[in-house]
Amino acid sequence: AKSMGRGAYCTFEEGMDAAMKVRRELEADLAVAIERDEFELYFQPRMAVADGSLAGYEALIRWHHPTRGLVSPTDFIPVAEHSGQIVQIGKWVLINACRITKQDFGERHVSVNVSPLQFRDKAFVDTVEEALKGSGLDAEKLEIEITENVVIDDDARALTILKALKRLGVRIALDDFGTGYSALGYLSRFPFDAIKIDRSFIAGLQTSDNAMAIVQTILKLGRALGMRLVAEGVETSSQLRLLVAEGCDEVQGYLIGKPTPRKIVPTGAPPIALK
Ligand code: C2E
Ligand code: CA
Ligand code: CA
Ligand code: CA
Repeated sequence: AKSMGRGAYCTFEEGMDAAMKVRRELEADLAVAIERDEFELYFQPRMAVADGSLAGYEALIRWHHPTRGLVSPTDFIPVAEHSGQIVQIGKWVLINACRITKQDFGERHVSVNVSPLQFRDKAFVDTVEEALKGSGLDAEKLEIEITENVVIDDDARALTILKALKRLGVRIALDDFGTGYSALGYLSRFPFDAIKIDRSFIAGLQTSDNAMAIVQTILKLGRALGMRLVAEGVETSSQLRLLVAEGCDEVQGYLIGKPTPRKIVPTGAPPIALK
């Protein structure tokens, strides 16, 4: 990207603030990041509270940028969402998360984050099916994590996609629960299997009575709706104790395990085409 068009954009960029400039550069670099094999998946364990067993992993993308070093997904995912590149990146994530899980993790469950734009892409359900077929992973082992933004914009379309995913046999989790602005009615209209309580509430557990009350209420609500409850961002044993006492089903966080890299081992099978 650096060799291309720098001079041409110079006067334009002079008027832009630094953040916009970085965004443009990241976008240009993202365009070639898949081909150059700069992405990597890290896997963070989730623990089942009932018996302390490994419930599965969440796949989290990392970008090893050639000059910037490790770029956080919180920095580049919004750029990729804005440009539409998230559709292709998300496909790469799905394919590789399923492959690695099938190869390395004894067919444990894997949770994959899906952005709203990716979710609404017309090929999304086919992409999921392809990732499952290509890897040989059982559909039931894949959990798609979406945020409520995905469902509130267009109820009917979101429901159609979620039903198609359920027909495939994959599980659906509602990520970052409690951070959005929508009413709760959608919880009963959409076929969620799990709720992930946002880590901002977990962080406040010991210090704030309000956070405790919110977590208790979410657990109760989710249980009443027959959903699995996952707490994210568990960092201390006292947080864990409180969550166990309150009947949370699964916990995830630095206390249990940090996200760690897992490279795909080539099997000799032909690579799955990325379109
Ligand atoms: P998220 O889905 O809420 O993922 C959890 C984030 O919390 C991860 O950050 C994880 O590393 C971090 N985390 C886990 N345990 C702890 C803890 O105990 N304490 C604290 N403070 N943090 C913890 P990460 O990997 O930087 O990802 C950030 C966000 O980027 C994710 O939030 C998700 O929204 C997005 N993201 C990551 N990978 C993907 C992906 O493959 N596709 C899409 N669309 N989004 C992704
Ligand atoms: Ca997530
Ligand atoms: Ca989350
Ligand atoms: Ca998040």
